[in-house]
Amino acid sequence: MSSRNQVALVTGGNRGIGFAITRDLCRKFSGDVVLTARDEARGQAAVQQLQAEGLSPRFHQLDIDDPQSIRALRDFLLEEYGGLDVLVNNAGISTWPKNKPPRRDDFFKDTQQGRVVNVSSQIMRDALKKCSPELQKKFRSETITEEELVGLMNKFVEDLKKGVHEKEGWPDSAYAVTKIGVTVLSRIHARKLSEQRRGDKILLNACCPGGVRTDMGGPKATKSPEEGAETPVYLALLPPDAEGPHGQFVQEKRVEPW
Ligand code: NAP
Repeated sequence: MSSRNQVALVTGGNRGIGFAITRDLCRKFSGDVVLTARDEARGQAAVQQLQAEGLSPRFHQLDIDDPQSIRALRDFLLEEYGGLDVLVNNAGISTWPKNKPPRRDDFFKDTQQGRVVNVSSQIMRDALKKCSPELQKKFRSETITEEELVGLMNKFVEDLKKGVHEKEGWPDSAYAVTKIGVTVLSRIHARKLSEQRRGDKILLNACCPGGVRTDMGGPKATKSPEEGAETPVYLALLPPDAEGPHGQFVQEKRVEPW
């Protein structure tokens, strides 16, 4: 077991739910917390806001759509901490089959208490029910691979561009389909962790923050950003002896059926 410093990282930490998650982690996580943002100035402004509250996040630039940016972050984490312990994918998850991004395993090298939280949305549950039986069967499969999932997501984009997505069995919401993708990818990654790295006890889950008053959620949503951060932070800080949840979709701190 290593004695390196623990580190937690939040994507899209400069505003909305990501900012609230970062603030709560700064208060509750025993190691360092890295606020990341795709825009350096917006990220630094958010860091300053938390510093004014007496908190001490670090900052690193990260655009989740830019493999170069991810590599730079990976190098920073490995140099400064030797790995990563808690990752909150708040801003989404990208896949780059052609550009070959760094392996995700690299980030979780030598962790003592690995936790991954992928922020999805409960909206994907209704969207999944609206998919054709064939698509539902694929998304609900216990053996679907990441490559197959990427293929399905690419097909949705192509079907949407051609205006045939509904005829091809897709729901009429690109946002909801991306959240089906995030949730299924979480299940695939959790399964891989169980198969290949069981001894590392890394717990990975997808969750819904609820309807939250942010730029995205709008002013009429029921929750404050702080309330929206509760379930993601709960999953990020599952105690060292926790054996689950793992590979689940969690809402209001409760596992929801898939
Ligand atoms: P938001 O207020 O729109 O904030 C989105 C954050 O993501 C911003 O910090 C934004 O950075 C960042 N971001 C966008 N693209 C990025 C990229 N390519 N690389 C890095 N960062 C990027 O959204 P929110 O309401 O806080 O939502 C956060 C998460 O919760 C999302 O995954 C959303 O789908 C999910 N969610 C939200 C609600 C809700 O009611 N709000 C409900 C269910 C699920 P910039 O400032 O640079 O744009």
